[in-house]
Amino acid sequence: MLEVQLKDARGLFMLPQAPEDAGYYVYGTPGGGAGQYAHPTMMTAILRVEREWQAIDKRKFGVGNISRAGGLPYKGHATHLTGLEVDVRPVRKDGQETAVYWYNHEYDQDATAKLIELFRTYAPVILVYFNDNKIPFVTHMLDHDHHFHVKLRG
Ligand SMILES: [Zn+2]
Repeated sequence: MLEVQLKDARGLFMLPQAPEDAGYYVYGTPGGGAGQYAHPTMMTAILRVEREWQAIDKRKFGVGNISRAGGLPYKGHATHLTGLEVDVRPVRKDGQETAVYWYNHEYDQDATAKLIELFRTYAPVILVYFNDNKIPFVTHMLDHDHHFHVKLRG
């Protein structure tokens, strides 16, 4: 079946909403992909990281907010306006598709470090906000205990 990808007023496409065989799952608000409009560079990055990730790990990684249709702001946030920023959940040891904090027992530090490394290898990453300071490159930022925030150069 042909899937039509929704496109917003900026010409940005919604991230494919994680079909069964995808290497990622989707979460975030608003739901249904309404917060997942991605700049082409971001779209390419996520799909590339997905492919590389699937080659090494059977668990899916969680992709959250990217940007809202038309670049509308998120309530209380001044980021995620351009489609060049994405929130990603740390990997859980049990593979459950739910949130985990970096200081929780179920947090898989090695796998999360690998996932961040894949973004840095295959995408033009400017910065990553995340509060597990054992992971190279990441910058501490308030409220980044249960997701990391990746910003790309457009
Ligand atoms: Zn973010």
